[in-house]
Formats: sequence, structure tokens, C-alpha cells
Amino acid sequence: MKTVFLDRDGVINRNPPNMGYVRRWSEFSFIPNARKAIRELTENGYRIIVVTNQSGIERGLYSEESLADIHSRMVAEISKAGGTIDAVYYCPHHPDAGCECRKPKPGMLIRAKREHNIELSSAYLIGDTVTDIQAGKRAGTKTFLVLTGLGQESYYHYMNIKPWKQTDMDGYYPEKIFTNLYSATHCLIKNDS
Ligand SMILES: [Mg+2]
Ligand SMILES: [Zn+2]
Repeated sequence: MKTVFLDRDGVINRNPPNMGYVRRWSEFSFIPNARKAIRELTENGYRIIVVTNQSGIERGLYSEESLADIHSRMVAEISKAGGTIDAVYYCPHHPDAGCECRKPKPGMLIRAKREHNIELSSAYLIGDTVTDIQAGKRAGTKTFLVLTGLGQESYYHYMNIKPWKQTDMDGYYPEKIFTNLYSATHCLIKNDS
């Protein structure tokens, strides 16, 4: 089975203005066509797994219960639109905690591989930040950057890497860049089936 890993904030939903943390469902707002994109992935036989950094938990901005509520509503709304989210993995830790799950580390993808028997080399990760792309690369997936969320800043980051540094950046760039999740999945479905 083909697998797509999706980052959440900036890919499925908008980053809210309050430091970018979605603390409750009322702050969750889908990016246009994100649900449609997920429905098309589902219809085309993809398993869809969300991998999201949620350090707001360890920062005390919201509880695991609130996050679980947000995720169950998100999954329900996507399901209403005809899409299926097979699993949601999140890292609750502070960046300073040194955990193995927070992206750019590949911990969540490795755990998903184990729990869902995923062949990572044929999987894709779609994200809006450099750290998403790094996590995907380290886990051995193909990666797409989208320009929603923090995607434009990430794009400029890639553009500003000095040529002399490029040897250090092996396997660091996304395979492709898209305007949003819908255009990314459209290309994926067309070329990967
Ligand atoms: Mg993001
Ligand atoms: Zn973690």
C-alpha cells in the first residue's frame, strides 16, 4: 500500500496568528482544498498518516486532551469530505528536550513504519518547513514542499543556500515544490500510479 505522510500545521490547516499554535478546535481552519486533496488520496488507495510537532503541549499552552479533541474533529471533518486519515502521530516535547520524535528527527516516521508496516522508500512526505523535509529524508521517503503555511519562508531558505554549501546539503532538498496540498497530491496521483 502506498503511504503519504502529511505535516499538519501549514499543510492541512492554517497556522493561526497566535505564535502558530492551534490550542482549540475553534482555532483550526482548513486550507482551501486540503480536504479534497485527502479525499483524492484516499480514493486512489493511499494510506495517509499525519506527523506533527506539538511542542505547545510541553510548553503548557494546551493539554493532550485538547489536542486529542482537535485531532478527532479534524479526522471527522476529513472523513465527512470522503477522506481517511489512518493515524495521527504527534511530538509533545519542547525543542530543548532532545527527544527522538520531534522533526527534523525521523522518530515519528520510524514508529509509523513499525506500527503500519510501511515501506519508507516508496512513501512520500508533504510538509511546509525545512524540518519536515529533513525528517522525511532521514527516514528515506520522497519529499514535497508546499508553499502554504511557512512554505514560502522555507522556499527562500533553499534559494539562499550558497552553492559552496551544497555538498553538505545532500539529500536535503525536496523532490518537488507545489503551491499547496491539492496540487501536490494531484501530481502524486498522476505520476505515481
Ligand atoms: Mg507545518
Ligand atoms: Zn518528541
